[in-house]
Amino acid sequence: MAEKQYGQFTKEEYEPMVGLSALDVFLARVYRFVILIPTAVAATSAVAYTLTKIAGFYQEVSWGALLIFDLTNLCYFMLALHFYRAGLQGDSLEKQSKLKLHKIAVGIGIIIQFNFTIYLIPYGQWWAFAPFFIFFTVFFFDIRLTCSVTVAVLISTVLSWVISPDIMWEPEGPNYVPFYIIRISYLIFSAFLLLSLTYLGSKYLIDELEKYANYDTLTHLLNRRTMDSLLKKVIKQSQKEKSTFCIIMVDIDDFKHVNDTYGHDFGDEVLKYVAHSILTGVKKTDYVFRWGGEEICIMLKAPKEQAQSAAERIRKDIADDRLKYKKEEAVGVTVTMGVSEYHDGLTIKDMMEDADAKLYYGKRHGKNQVVVELPSILRV
Ligand code: GH3
Ligand code: MG
Ligand code: MG
Repeated sequence: MAEKQYGQFTKEEYEPMVGLSALDVFLARVYRFVILIPTAVAATSAVAYTLTKIAGFYQEVSWGALLIFDLTNLCYFMLALHFYRAGLQGDSLEKQSKLKLHKIAVGIGIIIQFNFTIYLIPYGQWWAFAPFFIFFTVFFFDIRLTCSVTVAVLISTVLSWVISPDIMWEPEGPNYVPFYIIRISYLIFSAFLLLSLTYLGSKYLIDELEKYANYDTLTHLLNRRTMDSLLKKVIKQSQKEKSTFCIIMVDIDDFKHVNDTYGHDFGDEVLKYVAHSILTGVKKTDYVFRWGGEEICIMLKAPKEQAQSAAERIRKDIADDRLKYKKEEAVGVTVTMGVSEYHDGLTIKDMMEDADAKLYYGKRHGKNQVVVELPSILRV
């Protein structure tokens, strides 16, 4: 049959409908935090150095050197902006590799800049390294990169002592501590702090990514990619326990009309409302997925009769409620559902097709209904 079944979208139709996945949105947030903030701080610190020099500090540092320092910081910032914008496009995998590329580029920048500034910062102003370590935060969540840059920076410090021993000396005094001790201990302390933060950060990130990767951002339902693995698990369990379960496909009726009449934003509200109604209408052990644009799939651990009464209850609740449009007009919304029960030998695809066919039948026969059986003439 050439006619498109409900729930079967091509990639081109599907993607603009669901927009960014939860994972993409989360990565964009992480991107902002990991990349943009530290590099913005770096660029700001360059301005701060210049201002303090104008105010009469850093006599030993030449204007030329300061200019180079400022320019490299500006480069960081431009690079960050570029990768940040690029990072918002494309899918999650593409984004992650861009993020990595950017971190490496900034890492190389840090090592070059460190090797330049290490000869400029005089004794007594070792605290000037502080903003430098803020740059390191760009390596958050990537322990290997953080380690590599930390080691490179430590080697540079030791080398600077060999290459230019005079910068390590300062006139004698009662409280004199050799410069290299100050630098190395400061570096070790910062590296320790940073490595621990990176370790904790990456643990947190992985947990969060896993969590976000399973959910849809708009409706907070499980997303389509989790469906396959969960359904396989449920099928195995049913075979083992000799129990059954049902799949219910839900499609909002005349949703195009809602979008066209009240706008896409209100359409989104309707979708969230329907998702919420379904979620609160099923048991905690059941799963609810956002299957496509405005299609929701319920996996109910119950036989057909119970699934039907749950579906009827949810359908009625949705149909009885009204949503306020612009705090005035009350808009009614209805859904149509197709129920498919599992029995031995069925695959997920078979069940989906069965539920889809029933949903399709319901759509053609008045909508706002639950279809559990097809008339015998239509059965496959
Ligand atoms: P039917 O009763 O036959 O289901 O009619 P329908 O208008 O609902 O038709 P269909 O299911 O084919 O239309 C789906 C529409 O849902 C098309 C798309 O613009 C809209 N849609 C899909 N995802 C979203 C979304 O996330 N937000 C909003 N606002 N609209 C969406
Ligand atoms: Mg639809
Ligand atoms: Mg619809």
